[in-house]
Amino acid sequence: MNRHRSLAPVPCRRCGAPLGPLQRLRGEACEALDCRRAEVDERLAREREAALQARLRRRTRHESTPALTTAPVIWLQPNRNRLIDIRTAERARYLAQLERVAALAAPEAAEPAADAKPPSDSAIRGRLCAFCAGRCCRYGLAQHAFIDRALLQRWVERHPGSTAQDAAAAYAAQLPRRHVEASCLHHGRDGCTLPRGMRSDICNRFACAGLAGLEQTVAADAPATVVAAMAEGQRLLRVAALDEAGARPLRAR
Ligand code: SF4
Ligand code: SF4
Ligand SMILES: [Zn+2]
Repeated sequence: MNRHRSLAPVPCRRCGAPLGPLQRLRGEACEALDCRRAEVDERLAREREAALQARLRRRTRHESTPALTTAPVIWLQPNRNRLIDIRTAERARYLAQLERVAALAAPEAAEPAADAKPPSDSAIRGRLCAFCAGRCCRYGLAQHAFIDRALLQRWVERHPGSTAQDAAAAYAAQLPRRHVEASCLHHGRDGCTLPRGMRSDICNRFACAGLAGLEQTVAADAPATVVAAMAEGQRLLRVAALDEAGARPLRAR
């Protein structure tokens, strides 16, 4: 045994400070408040994940197939979509913002659209977002669908002879009558009412932690099936099996 190695200081895995002998007995992190808090948070997250996994397996046992039992689970944040009529004041705010943006000077060089295709365009990716029903589109409410002058300019360039005001009118024309409460005004019953080519780069490319996890899982070992699960605290809200063929809801409770 290498005597020197056994005496080498062991760093806290959070902050890198050398651990004293007692601290080393207690774990891999030091006594600093931030490090201890991070350790507890991580342990609680692990316990929550394990409890949810156990619940998920119990609840879906009656419909488990070998593919389902080994399928990776993608956890999503809770999302409940309630449709409401677009409020007059919200519509007015959105239209005023469009008007303000259209009045800005055109960008000197129009930014080329980022590839409108998401990082991976697998059917399973779309199914995950459809299962989730667009929780991330809540950000689009305050941000007025992320429509800026460069985006309007792209529309202008695709429609020779048109103006930024025409572009603004084209966006306004895509507003649905009803939208998902507390979400983007373009978040309608069947998802985004803007065609992909009219959406901002951020809309086309955003990936939440769940979607990023799915991308990684698909890139690493292309599972035939993944289980999408939505939980709130320790409660399972919705579960579905997703594959290339479709989405199959599983009984979550
Ligand atoms: S990116 Fe994430 S939050 Fe947004 S719709 Fe897809 S799964 Fe839901
Ligand atoms: S424009 Fe469409 S994709 Fe973007 S936030 Fe609004 S509803 Fe979501
Ligand atoms: Zn530390």
